[in-house]
Parts: sequence; structure tokens; C-alpha cells
Amino acid sequence: MISFEYYAPRSLEEALSLLDRWRGEAKVLAGGTDLTVQMKDGRIHPNVLIDAKNVPELNRLEWSDSRVLHIGAAVPLSKVVDFPPVVERFGILHQACSLIGSIQIRNRGTVGGNICNAAPSADAAPPLLCLEAQAVVAHSGGTRIVPLESFFQGPGQTALASNELLVEIEVSLPPALSAGCYLRHTPREEMDIAVAGVASFLVLTPEGDWCQGARIALGAVAPTPIRVPQVEAFLVGKTLSEGIIAEAAEQAAAAASPISDLRASAEYRRELVKVLTRRTIQKAREALGSKV
Ligand SMILES: Cc1cc2nc3c(=O)[nH]c(=O)nc-3n(C[C@H](O)[C@H](O)[C@H](O)COP(=O)(O)OP(=O)(O)OC[C@H]3O[C@@H](n4cnc5c(N)ncnc54)[C@H](O)[C@@H]3O)c2cc1C
Repeated sequence: MISFEYYAPRSLEEALSLLDRWRGEAKVLAGGTDLTVQMKDGRIHPNVLIDAKNVPELNRLEWSDSRVLHIGAAVPLSKVVDFPPVVERFGILHQACSLIGSIQIRNRGTVGGNICNAAPSADAAPPLLCLEAQAVVAHSGGTRIVPLESFFQGPGQTALASNELLVEIEVSLPPALSAGCYLRHTPREEMDIAVAGVASFLVLTPEGDWCQGARIALGAVAPTPIRVPQVEAFLVGKTLSEGIIAEAAEQAAAAASPISDLRASAEYRRELVKVLTRRTIQKAREALGSKV
């Protein structure tokens, strides 16, 4: 049996004061679909768990003023997937969250936990990087905003201090004439984690013939999920011909720094980045075809 103290605070203030009191000894518990597995495996041994599920601020799921999507850190993935503004306006995030685990995992697990667990393969991360999401982080002295790009600091490491918690993820309305696509490769079709994942997000001109903006993010092929600015810069101002897309895909593969492990070799992962980058750009372009 693993022994630990369990707290279920009912306000953000109470949660933060518990984190202060048990600084360095406590872990925040959201859905527990990563945390409890790590505890059972003996990879981590927190003395205290602070349950986030009853904190109202962490349960906010809102589309405010039709401009900003707020995803509270304790909101289950299944609610995010079914939330109409996510379905209608944030297709790339909807695709990624729908892929995570199973119905049971999505009923417990959260976007917040996916991000705070900071696995390089976290499926919500590449789309949120493309959407330039921000993390709202709180400690007992106040709140700060951390762009998601600086939130991930290494495998399992985030910008959160030991007395801080993630309150919510904020995502602004994407630009007009934009669309994205997230694809991942898993050796098994279901209940597996990505050996590589790519999110591509494009903004086209009203005429639709050239690329006004591009954001490309990779998962599971570097110590953290990453954007690849060199590929994005290459695409901007160009007509998205098959040749340009193929060149962008080569560049994305070159920018990845995958490792070899039990699940895939570095070489195979790099090849996957090339294929997935090509496909996600093509699919985003196709999705925009109907809008321009
Ligand atoms: C069978 C199975 C299949 C899975 N499939 C996938 C998959 O396809 N894709 C994928 O990406 N993941 C997958 N996962 C991993 C996991 O389900 C997801 O990462 C999920 O989103 C984690 O959310 P959670 O709420 O359960 O996090 P938890 O396990 O509760 O927490 C994860 C980590 O984040 C910290 N944390 C949580 N909330 C906060 C907060 N508000 N502030 C600070 N720290 C916080 C915790 O302390 C812990 O370190 C799978 C897991 C299982 C068991």
C-alpha cells in the first residue's frame, strides 16, 4: 500500500495555502490518469495529494465574449471535446483531445494534467502550441501568465514552482481564414501514446493562393513538444504547392531531435515527422479550400 495524505480543497485559496504548507511534498491531483500510474510504478512518492476537482476556478469551461476560450485545469477532456466552441472553432484541439486514451480516460483526465505532466508525447501540446495558448498559473501571492512555449522545460518538467498550480489554459480566437490539423502515429490504433505527432496550422490570404501565416509543432521527437520556427518562416509568403510542402516536411524532420527507445528508433521517428508534416499541411490546406 502507498500511504499519503489526501486533501480536497473547495476553493483556490485553500488549494494554494495547502501547496504552501506542503511545499515540495505535495502533488496536484486532477484526473489521476498519469499521476496514479506513476505512483503505482514507484516513479514518484508524493506525501500529499491535493485534489483539484472541487476547486471552482479550475472547473471553468467558457468561451468569453466570443474571443477567448478558458479551459479550467480540472475540466475533463470529454467535456472539452463536446464543448461547441471547441468543435466549431478549435478543430485542431478537438482532434487531439478526442484521440487521448479512451472514453473512460477522457472522462477522468484533463487538458491541464496532460500539459502539467509534460510528457514529450502529450497529444494536447502540439495543437495548443500552434494556437499560442497561455497557461494561467497561481500561487498564494498572485497569478502569472506563462506562454505555453515556455511552460515545457524538459521531460516531466514545467515552469511551475512547487507552490504553484495551473488554473486554466487560455486560447484566443484563431485568425480568419485559418485551419489546422493534428495527426499522430501510434503502433497500436487505440490506447497508445504517440511515437510522433505533428500539428500544422495555416493562415491563407483571402484569395487563398499563398500562405500568410504558419505554425508547426512537433510532439514526441524532442525533450519537450516544440514549435519549428524555421519551417514556419519557410512557408510564409509561399504558394502551398506539393513541392513546397515536401520541402517543409524535410525541414521539420531535420529540426526534430528524436531518441531511439523500445517503441521506435530515432530514424523511424524522423521519417514519421516528415510524413505527418506533409499530411497535416495538406489537410489544413484542404480544410481552408472550402473557406476561401
Ligand atoms: C490507458 C491510458 C491511455 C492514455 N492515452 C493517452 C493518449 O493517447 N495521449 C496522451 O497524451 N496521454 C494519454 N494518457 C496519459 C493521460 O491520460 C493524459 O496525459 C491526461 O490528460 C492526464 O490528465 P489527468 O487529469 O489525469 O492528470 P493527472 O494524472 O491528475 O496529473 C498529471 C500531472 O500533472 C500534475 N497536475 C495536474 N493538474 C495540475 C494543476 N492544475 N496544476 C499543477 N499540476 C497539475 C499532476 O501533479 C501530475 O504530475 C493515457 C493514460 C492512460 C492511463
